[in-house]
Amino acid sequence: MGGCAPIFALSAQANQVQTTEVLVIGAGVAGLTAASELLKKDHDVIVLEGRDRIGGRIWTDHSLGAPIDLGASWIHGDNGNPIKRLADNNNIQLFTTDFGQGSIYDNQGNLLSDAAITRVEGRFGQVEGRFYELKDEVSQDISLAQALTMQSPYQGLSETERQALDWLLEFNIELDLAADLDELSLLSWEEDETFGDTDILFPGGYEQIINLLTPGLDIRLNHFVESVTYDDAGVKVSTFNGVFEAQHAIITLPLGVLQHGVVEFSPNLPTRKQRAIDRLGMGAFSKIALRFPNVFWPAESHYFGNVVGSPWTEYWNLDVMAQLPIIVGLSPGSLARSLESMTDVQMAELAMQDLRATFGTNISEPIGMVVTRWASDPFALGAYSYNAVGSTLSDRDTLGEPAGNLFFAGEATSSSFPGTVHGAHLEGLRAAREIDDL
Ligand SMILES: Cc1cc2nc3c(=O)[nH]c(=O)nc-3n(C[C@H](O)[C@H](O)[C@H](O)COP(=O)(O)OP(=O)(O)OC[C@H]3O[C@@H](n4cnc5c(N)ncnc54)[C@H](O)[C@@H]3O)c2cc1C
Repeated sequence: MGGCAPIFALSAQANQVQTTEVLVIGAGVAGLTAASELLKKDHDVIVLEGRDRIGGRIWTDHSLGAPIDLGASWIHGDNGNPIKRLADNNNIQLFTTDFGQGSIYDNQGNLLSDAAITRVEGRFGQVEGRFYELKDEVSQDISLAQALTMQSPYQGLSETERQALDWLLEFNIELDLAADLDELSLLSWEEDETFGDTDILFPGGYEQIINLLTPGLDIRLNHFVESVTYDDAGVKVSTFNGVFEAQHAIITLPLGVLQHGVVEFSPNLPTRKQRAIDRLGMGAFSKIALRFPNVFWPAESHYFGNVVGSPWTEYWNLDVMAQLPIIVGLSPGSLARSLESMTDVQMAELAMQDLRATFGTNISEPIGMVVTRWASDPFALGAYSYNAVGSTLSDRDTLGEPAGNLFFAGEATSSSFPGTVHGAHLEGLRAAREIDDL
C-alpha cells in the first residue's frame, strides 16, 4: 500500500477508540450481506472498507457511456441462485448470454467451419471425460495440465483445430477458474456446485445488487485495516483512520490479501487456517473495455475470439446489450498477469492486433478504453480464488471457520460456490447467522 498520507490526516474522531458490537472488514458482497443481515436482526455493526468505494470485486464503470462491469459480470446459474432472486425481487433488468451466438476465427480471419467446431467440441468433451476418469485413477493430486498430457487430445486434428482446442481449454476452463491448467487441481476440478448453466448479465451494472445491500449501514470508507487483535474479551482493529473495538469481527478480506499478510493478526491465525490460506490459489483475470465509433464485428454475436493465441482470449460484444459499439476483452491466469505489467496503451495495442488480424486493417481506432489490474490491486491481490494442486474444497471450510471472536466470509470460504458473487453472498449470510446464534 502506498504510504502514510492518511495517517497525517487523522481526525479528532480517529484518535478516539470507537466501539460497536460487530465490525465487518470489507464492503464487498460478503461483508455488505453479513452487515445488512445483522442490522435486520438489530445488531450494531460498523463496516470498515479500505477503498474509497464499496463493492470490492463488483465494480461498475460508467466512463465509456454504458455501465461496464470491471469485476464480476455474470450471475452464474438461474436455478435457485440467490443473486438472481435479489435481481428479480427488485425488478432489475437482466440479459441472458447466448453461448450459441459466438464467432470463432482462425489465424487467417476466417470463421471456423461448423464441421471443425463440432470436431473440436467433441474432442474437448473427450478431454473432460478423461479428466473425470483420471480423478479415480491417480494416487495423488495432479494439475489439469498433467492430466492433459496423459491423453492424446490433438491426435488427428488439423493445425487450426489444435489451436481451436487450446482456445476452448482457455475459454471453458482457464477463464472460468482464473488460472492456468498447470495451476489447477485435478481432484478439486468440477467438485463445486452450480445453480445451472445459464449465465446472465446486468445491462445496468452489477453495482445494482451492491446498492440493495447498503441501506441503513454504517460504512466507513478509506479505513484501511492494518491489524486485528483478538482475545476472549473481543476484537481491536487498527485502521489508517482510527481504532475500533467490538465483541466480534467478520473478516471478508480477499484470499490474496490474507496470503500476502497485508493485515497483521495477533495472535496469528490458527495454523490449520493459515495452511489452508497457503494451499489455495488466488487467480488472475484481466478485462479491457474498448469503445469504437462503429461496430465492425458481427453485430449479432454475443462474443468472438481468434484461436491464434492472443493474450485476450475472447471479446464480449456489449452492443447486443447496451446498443453501443463497445467490446470487452477477457484474459485469464498468467496471460492476465503478463498484461498487468504493460501500459494501458500496450494492452489495447495487443487487442487491436487481434482485431486487425480478424476483421482487417481498415477497422476504426478505439475512442475510449478502460483496463483492469486485479492481481496488483492491493485490496484484492488477485481476481478470485481457485483450487491449486494439492488443495481441497475443505480448505475453504477451514478458511471459513471462526477463530475466537473472529468470523470469516468471502468467495474463498465457499466450498460450494467458490469464486462467485453468489458464493460470497451465501457466506456473508452464514457468518451473520453464526454471530446471531451466539
Ligand atoms: C475480473 C473478475 C471477474 C469476475 N467475474 C465474475 C462473474 O462473472 N460472476 C461471479 O459470480 N463472480 C465473478 N467474479 C468473482 C466475484 O467478483 C467475487 O467472488 C466476489 O465479488 C467477492 O466478494 P467478496 O465480498 O468475497 O470480496 P471483495 O468484493 O473483494 O470484498 C472484500 C473487500 O475488502 C476490502 N479490503 C481489502 N483489503 C482491505 C484492508 N486491508 N482494509 C479494509 N478493507 C480491505 C476490499 O477493498 C473489498 O471491498 C469476478 C471477479 C473478478 C475480479
